[in-house]
Amino acid sequence: IIELKDITKTYRRGEEDLPILRNISLSVADGDFVAIIGPSGSGKSTLMNTIGLLDVPTSGSYTLDGVVTERMSDNELAELRNQKIGFIFQQFNLLPRLTAMENVELPMIYAGIAKKERKERANAMLKMLGMGERGHHRPSELSGGQQQRVAIARALAISPSLILADEPTGALDSRTGEEVLELILELNAQGNTIVLITHDHHIADNAKRVVALRDGVIVDDYRNDTKKSLVQQEVSV
Ligand code: ATP
Ligand code: MG
Repeated sequence: IIELKDITKTYRRGEEDLPILRNISLSVADGDFVAIIGPSGSGKSTLMNTIGLLDVPTSGSYTLDGVVTERMSDNELAELRNQKIGFIFQQFNLLPRLTAMENVELPMIYAGIAKKERKERANAMLKMLGMGERGHHRPSELSGGQQQRVAIARALAISPSLILADEPTGALDSRTGEEVLELILELNAQGNTIVLITHDHHIADNAKRVVALRDGVIVDDYRNDTKKSLVQQEVSV
């Protein structure tokens, strides 16, 4: 579903172009669960923003679900993003003035789904995540774990081809984080493709595949079932 080829990203600082991602090539198969790990500043969020079409690479090519994204306009990129990708963030990123229900509806509004279906789907999603009774609550009236459930319901509302999560358990206590991990595993078991950034080794151990970044380069890439490094294979080809 994800095909990144030779992606670089640089940021301009003064007279210099600072490389953040250097020649990243990465393919992710439909239905996979990939954890991206690496030290702070290694480029994880930048890579995720590129995959999520929130940020355009400096060079390289990116094909998402068969759609070639180079040379697309900002509007086209936004439309593709709204159709295909569900986002889950560390700080939940719920809109504070909207209720849980309205937050879940928001991406469906962007995706052009009619009001009646929106309400039905938002209700069903909240119910599925055990938040059926909380639809009328605002984020400030919910615990961190409950807010993340609403955020997950929001991410799922458009039946995305791809779920991207940047430290989804980072702001949660370990028990609540474990519950969110269980949810994510369940989503993956149902066939959802997941790419998740984490500092938590326990979460990385539960992913199917682990990609390690360092200084903007993929330094390791292995499947948890075999522990066999895919980076070695690519180098020897
Ligand atoms: P963390 O684990 O702390 O979240 P990360 O691996 O997600 O780190 P990124 O946020 O991708 O790291 O940042 C990688 C590097 O790019 C950092 O050195 C950061 O300062 C730099 N960077 C990120 N965004 C920008 C920007 N908009 N302008 C300039 N530099 C940036
Ligand atoms: Mg980050």
